[in-house]
Amino acid sequence: MKAIFLGPPGVGKGTYASRISPQMGIAHISTGDLLREEVKKKTELGLKAKEYMDRGELVPDELVIDMLEKRIREKDCENGFILDGFPRTIPQAEALEKIVKIDVVINLLLKDEFLIEKISARRQCRKCGEIYNLADIDREGIKMPPILPKVPGKCDKCGGELYQRDDDKEETVRERLEVYKKQTAPLIEYYRKKGLLKEVRVTGGPEKMVPIVMEAMRSPPQTK
Ligand SMILES: [Zn+2]
Repeated sequence: MKAIFLGPPGVGKGTYASRISPQMGIAHISTGDLLREEVKKKTELGLKAKEYMDRGELVPDELVIDMLEKRIREKDCENGFILDGFPRTIPQAEALEKIVKIDVVINLLLKDEFLIEKISARRQCRKCGEIYNLADIDREGIKMPPILPKVPGKCDKCGGELYQRDDDKEETVRERLEVYKKQTAPLIEYYRKKGLLKEVRVTGGPEKMVPIVMEAMRSPPQTK
């Protein structure tokens, strides 16, 4: 099973991918994490990527594709993977197509108002990157309980300090949503035309949504 998760920032792609991948025996590849790892390990590709990052520039698509190509040859990708955070544009999707055949694209949907509320309540562990969420949403048929650490401000997994990422601050969230929409709308059409797209409306927290997303991954794509 080779899947792509699409969806606006804050919809929970990373959370779903990290919970579903062990259940399905496939890898979770977050391109953001992958990039940070390569840089940290000072691999050839990582060092090249760092040059762009240090200049405040976007890492070129070809570099990300090279990293992905290497990553999906690793053993934990034998049964497949979930790609989270890539592709974001049609040129990226076309480049991806050249290295691997994707089975399904899950598009996660949620209204902006809820996304903004959720993203600005997100907290991340400084050490291991685990994500928590302080927002408690229960209205309009949408129930999203918070994902709280056992000890406030501390990560359950490693005890690291939780913090709010700069790009999760409310003032930047709206801008990120606009950028996402402009960038990704054509991508959604691209995968719809290929018959790979499955849309899943998010109406609850991970407990409710994980089985629904897994079902969507396993059932044949919508014809539309
Ligand atoms: Zn942690």
